[in-house]
Amino acid sequence: MISSRIDRLLAELPPPSDPDPNGASIVQELLGGRFGEMSTFLNYTFQSFNFRNRQGARPFYDLLANIAAEEFGHVELVCATINTMLTGAAKARAKAPAAALAGLDGVRNAQHFLAGGLGALPQDSNGRPWSGDYVFSSGDLIEDLTHNYFLETAARSGKLRVYETVQHPAARTLTGYLLVRGGVHQVAYARALENLTGADMTKLFPSPRIPTEKIPECRPHIKRGDHLRLYRFSESDYHELAAVFNGPHPETGEALVVEEGRPEGWPAFDLPSEPAAFAPDYAPEEIAEIAKRLRSAAGLPAEPSGEVANPVRRPRRSAAKAAPAASKRRR
Ligand code: MN
Ligand code: MN
Repeated sequence: MISSRIDRLLAELPPPSDPDPNGASIVQELLGGRFGEMSTFLNYTFQSFNFRNRQGARPFYDLLANIAAEEFGHVELVCATINTMLTGAAKARAKAPAAALAGLDGVRNAQHFLAGGLGALPQDSNGRPWSGDYVFSSGDLIEDLTHNYFLETAARSGKLRVYETVQHPAARTLTGYLLVRGGVHQVAYARALENLTGADMTKLFPSPRIPTEKIPECRPHIKRGDHLRLYRFSESDYHELAAVFNGPHPETGEALVVEEGRPEGWPAFDLPSEPAAFAPDYAPEEIAEIAKRLRSAAGLPAEPSGEVANPVRRPRRSAAKAAPAASKRRR
């Protein structure tokens, strides 16, 4: 695998609103819990990295490799949600040695600010670290696919429970999206097993089984057809997805679709510094100043080149200031 990275999220998250540190600790289950995104990501990643006789079983290898790639993006999306929910949890503008974190002494996961900078951690909702024991990569394709089907099913139940528990808009947006995509993965693994063994998993165990059409945060994704679509996350490879992912959706009867190419994605909100938790520093403006100098020295534009979701601020005559900085470098 040669990695390539695109600085976009798989779903459009809302901007930070009222902080919800206890809700964020609940959302951790979807990141580092046994059935969280780290587990789906690393199960399919190990299974695909270990896959033998790829040419002999190419459609199944392609399926695992591509769902693994999507799951990496889900890991990022859960992190972005947790970070959004933790934004502003410290006392606004207060810094050490003021008691800027005093209001957080009763929250469920103190590690969010003691070990992390008000950010996500590879832990479950009780703060237990994610474990490699959650990865099942037996090398037996039918065993692995059966495990994956169960994993997706349990993951979706977990998402629904988090949806029921946490009402923060970022958490609701996240779970709405993940429930729809998890449904696609359930169908993909059920279809793979059906092709290999003839067993109809969707009859054995009703699947996807969650009424996503009744969940407002799921509806935009269903309307877009994302409940039917498996993406090919590669410019050049993994062309055999359609050999497995085809036929009618088990619930709606609509045709399943392989999308040739990755989703467009959404820019992330650039979350503000949290100086009370030293993220990215006690004095973040110093790092920004250094970055500006380095950018100028490297001949880069004065303004940062990245794309973020934050509303564009009108430059306050700073464009004029950039010119003398560039000439200073030439001296
Ligand atoms: Mn996922
Ligand atoms: Mn999945």
